[in-house]
Amino acid sequence: MNFNEFQLNNHLIQAIQQCGYTAPTPIQQQAIPFILAGRDLLGLAQTGTGKTAAFILPTVQRLMSAPRSRVRALVIAPTRELAEQIHEFTQTVIRHTGLRSLAIYGGVSKSGQIAKIRQGVDIVVACPGRLLDLHNDKAIDLTRVEVLVLDEADHMFDKGFLPDIRRIVQRLPIRRQNLVFSATMPAEIKHLLENILENPATVQINPSRSVKSISHRLFSVNQNQKTNLLMYLLSEEAMPSTLVFTRTKHKAKQLAQKLVNAGFRATSLQGNLSQNRRQQALEGFKTGAYTILVATDIAARGIDVTGISHVINFDMPDTAEAYIHRTGRTGRAGCTGDALTFATSEDKRLVQVIERSLDTSMSHLEVPQPASAYASTMPPPPVAPKNTSATTLQGSPKGAEKSLQGARKHRRRPTQSNIFGLPLAARSKKSSAC
Ligand code: AMP
Repeated sequence: MNFNEFQLNNHLIQAIQQCGYTAPTPIQQQAIPFILAGRDLLGLAQTGTGKTAAFILPTVQRLMSAPRSRVRALVIAPTRELAEQIHEFTQTVIRHTGLRSLAIYGGVSKSGQIAKIRQGVDIVVACPGRLLDLHNDKAIDLTRVEVLVLDEADHMFDKGFLPDIRRIVQRLPIRRQNLVFSATMPAEIKHLLENILENPATVQINPSRSVKSISHRLFSVNQNQKTNLLMYLLSEEAMPSTLVFTRTKHKAKQLAQKLVNAGFRATSLQGNLSQNRRQQALEGFKTGAYTILVATDIAARGIDVTGISHVINFDMPDTAEAYIHRTGRTGRAGCTGDALTFATSEDKRLVQVIERSLDTSMSHLEVPQPASAYASTMPPPPVAPKNTSATTLQGSPKGAEKSLQGARKHRRRPTQSNIFGLPLAARSKKSSAC
């Protein structure tokens, strides 16, 4: 199937070509015809399946008929990063259409957003809190909304946004098209959706279909072996773009700092960062200035960085669904990826559940001998920069690089068959092939 079959406007076809998409993904194939036909839709799909284009393309097609410069499409997302990403994609799609899109979220001043609303916008991509805030200030008119999209509805629930969503929906016209996307369907979401969706078409992308391109490795560890194992793997394997998950914000920050001290180009993304710092961290990771991003689930929600070669579960996720969601960040859109998980004896039961929900089996591995010795053979870290941020690392890259070289010089090289059952050369080359 190709995009021409949807009979989209030429501007949209051009935008799709610009994005380099040659064929629609399964969610796009299934969802776009329903949306173009004006149906309400429930899309059960996680990030990484191509769901953003699945709802933006047909929505823009609808908006291309007059009138302009009123908020006619409202997309609600649970995080600023996701809102920004959807907005960026929308900008690409509407470039030659005369339509305007605006991202609305907190953490930045209201005045700029209000000025843009006054100039006229057609598509608003918003986080619930700031949107309500602006609505209460009478700065935004939602009475012309024709299409409502709720993206990552399950995460809206996790973040306690459902009351806000209800308030927003009450301010919209009754006649409208509703599109809801969610990776999971907890009872609370089902209940909310019964009141929002009218006779919806349902499309479901089986999560296991989107993780086939990922190889899953599991290391049985003790808690105190994790950091050494991580550093060891990071320096032994080619890991050009690695997302590391920790359970807590504090741990994410602390671990990123340890990696920076050891000479790795790492940064962290966690809830305590200012909007500016979050964007810096994300941008740095996207451009490759940082090869490692340490994040919590909440902070990493919805982030769309293509070409992530490795996802490392430094701490186990809480559920099998969260595992699939985390690891779905790699192996996207035609690429292969690696998922590595550090599991302690307490995680055994969850590992079994995860394995049942995966199509492929996980390779079970012990901590390789050289990894246990990693820290003790490391030279002392370079003088730590005052701030833990990645920007400070950029300030002293030479010192950091020296330390890494020192560490490498002091380290014994492992025999790779011990670790992966594959020759090192073969493994090292295999990183997020597209
Ligand atoms: P999403 O699920 O919307 O976060 O999209 C995941 C990734 O897939 C994004 O990086 C998109 O650019 C990419 N993508 C979306 N649709 C396609 C497509 N039809 N072909 C190739 N890549 C795509």
